[in-house]
Amino acid sequence: DMQQTAGIIALDERWGAHNYHPLPVVISEAEGAWVTDVDGRRYLDFLSGYSALNFGHRHPDLVRAAHEQIDRLTLTSRAFHNDQFGAFCAELAELTGTEMVLTMNTGAEAVESAIKVARKWAYEVKGVAFDAAEIIVATHNFHGRTTTIVSFSDDPVAHDNYGPFTPGFVTVPYGDAQAVRDAIGPNTAAVLMEPIQGEAGVVVPPAGFWADVRDACTENEVLLIADEIQSGLARTGRLFALDHEGVRADLYTLGKALGGGIIPVSAVVGRADVLGVLRPGSHGSTFGGYPVACAVGRAVVGLLATGEFQERSADLGRHLHDRLEALLGQGVAAVRGRGLWAGVDLDPLGRTGREVSMALRDEGVLCKETHERTLRIAPPLVITRDEIDHAVDALERALKV
Ligand code: PLP
Repeated sequence: DMQQTAGIIALDERWGAHNYHPLPVVISEAEGAWVTDVDGRRYLDFLSGYSALNFGHRHPDLVRAAHEQIDRLTLTSRAFHNDQFGAFCAELAELTGTEMVLTMNTGAEAVESAIKVARKWAYEVKGVAFDAAEIIVATHNFHGRTTTIVSFSDDPVAHDNYGPFTPGFVTVPYGDAQAVRDAIGPNTAAVLMEPIQGEAGVVVPPAGFWADVRDACTENEVLLIADEIQSGLARTGRLFALDHEGVRADLYTLGKALGGGIIPVSAVVGRADVLGVLRPGSHGSTFGGYPVACAVGRAVVGLLATGEFQERSADLGRHLHDRLEALLGQGVAAVRGRGLWAGVDLDPLGRTGREVSMALRDEGVLCKETHERTLRIAPPLVITRDEIDHAVDALERALKV
């Protein structure tokens, strides 16, 4: 019965701000790729908290690291050192092949931090005229919800009525390298983009785009900032989505899976001569780099260093995409993505994304629409081939009107 589910949802709706429209399912337990609701029904997680749960729910190594750290030391503030911070930074820098790490908490904070660092670098190192720095961003971007970040969002629901907006952003069509080149001027500090656009519907830019943007940045002393908050940390079958293109960014923003699905952990990683513009007092966060974050983050880095999750995503991702592509013309209009990550456009004449998500819920599979007619699929990377088949079989049934 739906007894408990209905009562809890009524509480949410009465007392919680209505800034989300969740599927009507109330989860109370989870392990690996599976979750259980308050009425005892089990569901396969086909969303992974938008890539925050890349290692599945409650991965034993991550849970152990969190418990052990909480039993010893939780918070010091950065007024003092703690014994986890330096080790986390060193291990994350080694994993990502970068020189310096700035720890924050949420994804939006990491993006804000990258914007601040890029501007400060533009004035202090590149010599851009005071208050004139520009950052080039893409159409249909999603980088978070703060006032500065929504200033350059072209999604009216995310943007409208939150002004006055932060100036200094120039928007070009995503995937158009010539447009990036044309937008670069003497005041350009950085290009900030998602290597694959998540929220937009798992949109992969044309081959060669990133190499071309990298060249344009290098030629013009412009920073390339890759927002890998959703695409990074094994989601696409490599550590970074940019790795598929053989391109290195100057700064990467990381979040979501960096906290192992346990706590919010984000970071900006990259060049020491860029992050080096930060001086004591010029930027910070009470919880950024706190001991629990660092301990969980170190365990996450440990899992990624094995390469196992990147490999699973690449191998199983091929199977997922084969299965999804077989649905083209049968309720599916397009399939995009890489690794265990897919945007599935639904046939405009068939069910909406919400309707298909609801039908999938009834089949015991949880995923979520993005926009009206796209499903975003991002299973935990611990999912098995049989479980993928189970979910895609369910999708096949859910597509039938
Ligand atoms: N950047 C990208 C690419 C994202 O996908 C997201 C979240 O969906 C964010 C930034 C914002 O992260 P957070 O919700 O943790 O602030």
